[in-house]
Amino acid sequence: MDVLERAAELERQGKHIIHLEVGEPDFNVPEVIASASHRALSEGRTHYTHSLGDPELRTQIVKKYEQEYGVKVSSDQIIITSGSSPALLLSLGVLCDPGDDVLLSDPGYACYPNFIRFIGANPVSIPVNEEDGFQFRPEEICKKITKKTKTIIINSPMNPTGNLLSEEVMKQLAQYDFPVISDEIYHGLVYEGRAHSMLEFSKKTFIINGFSKLYAMTGLRLGYVIAPPEYVRAIQKIQQNLFICASSVAQRAAIAALHAAETDIIRMKEIYNARRIYLIKRLKQLGFKIETLPTGAFYVFVNAQHISPNSYDLAFDILEQAQVGVAPGIDFGKNGEGYLRFSYANSIENIEEGMQRLEKYLRY
Ligand code: PMP
Repeated sequence: MDVLERAAELERQGKHIIHLEVGEPDFNVPEVIASASHRALSEGRTHYTHSLGDPELRTQIVKKYEQEYGVKVSSDQIIITSGSSPALLLSLGVLCDPGDDVLLSDPGYACYPNFIRFIGANPVSIPVNEEDGFQFRPEEICKKITKKTKTIIINSPMNPTGNLLSEEVMKQLAQYDFPVISDEIYHGLVYEGRAHSMLEFSKKTFIINGFSKLYAMTGLRLGYVIAPPEYVRAIQKIQQNLFICASSVAQRAAIAALHAAETDIIRMKEIYNARRIYLIKRLKQLGFKIETLPTGAFYVFVNAQHISPNSYDLAFDILEQAQVGVAPGIDFGKNGEGYLRFSYANSIENIEEGMQRLEKYLRY
C-alpha cells in the first residue's frame, strides 16, 4: 500500500509510473458479463437474494466443480458472498475460536494474517522456500501442529509466487485431522500443468473461490465458499446478520460469466501467458535467477538479494529512480524478504517499458 500511495503521489506530480505492483486484472469485464449486469438492472433484479445466493448460480458452480475437477458437491454446500474475501472471513469465523491457531505459508497472501487476527486467532507461519518451488514441507507443518490448530490456509496458484501446489502435498494435507481452507481464486489462470481442487482429495475442506481474477470482475465483488454440510447453517447465520446476501446484479453477471464467457477467458489467458513468458525472459536477462517457473496467477516472485537484502527500501528506490512500481517481498511475510513481486496484469507495452527502465536502473 505504501508503494501504491507513493506511486499515486508521483503521478500527481506529473511522473509516468509503470505499475507492476498491481494485484488485479487490467482487463475490463467481458461484454457478455457487462450486458448480463445491465439486463439484471433493467429487469429489476435489484432486491435481496436468498442469503445463500441465487439458486441458479449455485447450481452452475456445482457443475463447474464437477466438470473441471470431477468432484460432486451439493448446491446446499455453496454460499455466495461479496467477493472471496468475505468467504474466507466466514470460513475462519465458523472454524476458529479466539486463541486458536491457523497455519499458513510464509510467503503468502498479505491479508491472510489480518483475517486470522480479526477473528481473534493466531496466524502460524510455515516457511516455504524457492528451492522447493514454494511447496510446503510436511515436516515443517508437523512442527507447528498443536491442539489449538484449527485449519491451514492453502492457495494454489499462489499469490505472490505464481506457483502451483503439487498433488503430493495436497494429498498429504488431506491426512490431517483439521479441515483445509483452499483459496482457489486464481484457478483457471494456469498456463502450464494443472491446478487441483482440494475437494479432489478431501471432503473435509472449505473451498474459497470467486469471480475477481479469472473473469476480471474485481469491482463487482462476488465470490463463494463451498463448505462441508455441517458448517453451512452457521455460515448462513453470519451471512444473514452481517452481509444479508451478495449483490443480486453481480450474481446475475456471474451466471453469464460461468456459461458464456469461455471465449473471453481463453483470450485473456493467452494474453497473460504471452506476458508471463516475456517477463520471465527479461527478468532472467537482467540477472534474476528464477528457480521454479511460475505457471499460474499473474505474478513472478524473484530473488533480489543480490541487489539489496531490504525489499521495502529496494521497491521504494526502484519507484523513485526508475518510476516502476513493484511489490516488496516483505509484504508477504518474513520469508519473502529479499524478493520482489512483479505482476503481469499490465499491457505487454508497459511491461516492456518497465523492463527497460529496470535495466537502466540496474546499470547505474
Ligand atoms: N485471495 C488471494 C490469494 C488474493 O490474491 C485476493 C485478491 N488480491 C483475494 C483472495 C481476494 O479477492 P476478492 O475478495 O476480490 O475475491
